[in-house]
Parts: sequence; C-alpha cells; structure tokens
Amino acid sequence: MSRTAFAYHDRFLDHDTGPHHPERPDRLRAILRGLENKNLLARLDRLSFEPAGDDLLLLNHSQAYIDRLAETCRRGDPYIDCPDSAICPDSEFIARLAVGAVVAAVDAVMTGRADNAFCAIRPPGHHARREMSAGFCLYNNIAIAARRLQSRHTVQRVMILDWDVHHGDGTQAAFEEDPGVLFCSLHEDPRYCYPGTGFTHERGRGPGEGFTLNLPMPVAARDEHYMKAFEDEVLPHAHAFRPDALLISDGFDAHRDDPLAGVELSDHGFAWLMTQAVALSRDLCGGRLIVILEGGYNLGVLERCAAEHVKIMLG
Ligand SMILES: [Zn+2]
Repeated sequence: MSRTAFAYHDRFLDHDTGPHHPERPDRLRAILRGLENKNLLARLDRLSFEPAGDDLLLLNHSQAYIDRLAETCRRGDPYIDCPDSAICPDSEFIARLAVGAVVAAVDAVMTGRADNAFCAIRPPGHHARREMSAGFCLYNNIAIAARRLQSRHTVQRVMILDWDVHHGDGTQAAFEEDPGVLFCSLHEDPRYCYPGTGFTHERGRGPGEGFTLNLPMPVAARDEHYMKAFEDEVLPHAHAFRPDALLISDGFDAHRDDPLAGVELSDHGFAWLMTQAVALSRDLCGGRLIVILEGGYNLGVLERCAAEHVKIMLG
C-alpha cells in the first residue's frame, strides 16, 4: 500500500478552449468520475496549492513569455502562438494553478508526506517551450517539476518518462544539455504524428548527450511493441542512470480508441505501463513517483485508464 497524494482543482475546468477543442474540461470530469466509481477518491491525500508565482515559472520559461501569455489572455485573444493553443481570459491564472499543483505534488513526495502523487491538471504541458506555447500546452508543468526537484530538493538525477502518443518536444528541449535528467519518450513515429520530432538519433547534446532516449513506435503499434521497447530500452537505461525520483508525463492518447493519433494501446497496455513504472520507482528511487496528466481525448478511456493508474499507484 502506498500513500498517494492527489492534486486537482475545480478551477481547472474553467480553462475554456471553445466548443470544438479536444482538450476540454470534460476530460477532468471523466477522470474524477472514474475515481469516484472505483471508490478511489476517498483513499487519496488531497493536496491544496496556490497558483505558481513567477519564481517557479522562471525555472523553465522566460519573463518575456510569462508576460506575453498574461497580456494575451488579458486582451481576450482566442489563442496564443498557434490556434491549437486555445485560451480564455482565465487561462493564465489556471496555467499557473496547474504548475502550483505539480510543485505541491513534488514537495509532498520529497518531504515524505506521500509516497507518490497523481496530478489531474489542465492545460497540459509537455509541448510548451521556454519562449512559446504549443500543442494545447501553455507552461511546461513537468519540466518545472523536474527543476523544482533540482533546485529545492537538491535531487541529482531525475528521470522523466513520457508515454503520451506525441513526442514531448518541449520537455526534451528543456533538458537536452542536462545530464542530470534522463528523458525517455515512447511516442508515435514522428514522420506521421505531431510534432514531428523524437527520432532515435535525437540523443541529447553536449554534456547531455546520451540522456535523451526517444523510442518512436510504428503506426498501429500495439501493447507488445510498447512492452518490448520498455523492457529492451527503458529498463536498462533507467537502471544505468539510477534516478532519485521518477516523473511521468501520463498521456492517454496512445489508446486505440483515442481520436487524435494512430497507435493502439489497450486498457491492459496502459495498466502494464504504470505497473512497470511503479515497480521501477520502488526498485530505484524509494517509490518517489510523480504522475502528471498530459493528453488523452477519449472520455471513456480517461475515465477507465486514469482510475486504473491511480489504483496501481495505491498498490
Ligand atoms: Zn498527446
């Protein structure tokens, strides 16, 4: 049994992306429904948190971008940088609240209040760059979580595992020169899938060379493709790296029922991945695991698979 912290806020529902956007408030309602239906909500330690201040955002973003996002929201623009990244006047506040959630989760795990933590947040983060938004993402939540581990908790080695179907290009860019962060991403073949990066030859740069591991999956990849990549590549790299904490970009859009991409994980495949990740965290870093929601656009998948992930984390 683990003590699992849970970071969620009703204000995340107010990030209004318009009537036809796949990244919509109902995604979080579906996750909460799944947790309630399986009687998991009462077993979680609910975290309270505040919107992140500039000091936290600056761990991964420039002041110019922070100011530009605030101004763009204040003006009432429908999106920032690209139409994918839809916003409303409240989005700047809510994006800060999402960062506050992951920082609270990191702090809860590192101070021993919880063994692990699940963050049900939006907007997602792994495409966001230092200077710009991208792909529904405003601030890079997981990158800031990793920087928080380094700066506040003096963690030497952070492993980020990203199984969202889209390559976590923003996260990779943040750490490609940092040998203290092992970034492992399983995603659909970038020749056929947004954002078009994440080839195996992208392995990090300078002192970070060898600390970026991209594992593109073929179109229509199934559970067995992911299992083989995990066992043959992720596990040996993780054991060689010996992380002090594990962060997961938990996207559910690699599911075969997801409308946005072309790989075909099953419910069982998603459960297998989280079972492996929890075991890895126990073997290598005292169970310290922080799971952060990214994509996933089929509401039924979110309801079932996110609850299963939380159940596995609880043990
Ligand atoms: Zn995605």
